[in-house]
Amino acid sequence: MKDRYGREIRYLRLSVTERCNLRCRYCMPENGICKKAREEMLTEDEMILAVEAAASLGFQKLRITGGEPMVRRNLLSVCRRASRVSGIEEVCLTTNATMLADPAGGTGRTMAAALREAGVSRVNISLDTLDPRRYAWITRRGSLKDALAGIEAALDTGFEKVKLNCVLIGSFNEDEVPALAQLTLKWPVDMRFIEMMPMPGAAGFGPEAFIPCSRVLEALPDLVPVREAREGVARLYRLPDAIGRVGMISPMEDHFCGACDRLRLTADGKLRPCLHSAAEYSVKGLDAAGMKARIEAAVLAKPAWHGDLDWNNPSGDRRRMNQIGG
Ligand code: SAM
Ligand code: SF4
Repeated sequence: MKDRYGREIRYLRLSVTERCNLRCRYCMPENGICKKAREEMLTEDEMILAVEAAASLGFQKLRITGGEPMVRRNLLSVCRRASRVSGIEEVCLTTNATMLADPAGGTGRTMAAALREAGVSRVNISLDTLDPRRYAWITRRGSLKDALAGIEAALDTGFEKVKLNCVLIGSFNEDEVPALAQLTLKWPVDMRFIEMMPMPGAAGFGPEAFIPCSRVLEALPDLVPVREAREGVARLYRLPDAIGRVGMISPMEDHFCGACDRLRLTADGKLRPCLHSAAEYSVKGLDAAGMKARIEAAVLAKPAWHGDLDWNNPSGDRRRMNQIGG
């Protein structure tokens, strides 16, 4: 359906949990989150009801996110049921990949293969560094080995697309931009660099940690723009002889509100018209008609843009990224 500014809203980002096995320093507090009561969180049936209602309003794309979606026990069932909803053309997943190579129950398959079988066609994977010690530092507890095994499992599984997302952080990973971009020489992935956003979870970083994508372009003079220069929010480039592409996502330097086609639904049942606004519409406990009406209301409440956003004007939201879904 169209919002008040003529934008076609067709993309639902569904967060299936606030929990995560990692604690990335720009996203989550060290001690994790205060666990909410079970009754506050959406059930699997309520999630599917929301997907059905969204599809009936013309939504075509669904992204499952979190927190870390793979810590939700019934994730495969959510994906399988969502992918069968009439009108939903693609189901994508955003994950830190550390569990993608794990066995899926007693099936002899990896979780990556089980997700593919459950209808997930594309995966986005967070990868901020190729240095094991830096990975352990930024995630406060993760193992780079697990993330790389997960990426290999995803590549072996035959997803239609695997994208790697790197949040740019000054004095942390700027020197790794060439090595990360060179992953596209050996893997058919999109390696995307993302400007860090001043969300509450990133409050430990100051303005000096912010690196604009223009600095990545300076560090990679061999990049050539690809013909279909934009895909979603990313501007696309290619290194000579690469089998993958390099993407720039600049929510700060070049906000893309004019092309925003998304609505978010949090794991505790709040529809979010804009990532950087605290406005929320609750869907917990609604029936099919109520769910549809609430989604329509949230789409019509989307603002034209999120207003000035920089390290002096941080996001107007109180939630951390793991409580929204990125
Ligand atoms: N756990 C999964 C993961 O890490 O891919 C999915 C959820 S995570 C909240 C979704 C995305 O948000 C990740 O790519 C992460 O890097 C990004 N993110 C979190 N905090 C951010 C921030 N302050 N600025 C930019 N991106 C951020
Ligand atoms: Fe977890 Fe993803 Fe947030 Fe990292 S970015 S703490 S992996 S939810």
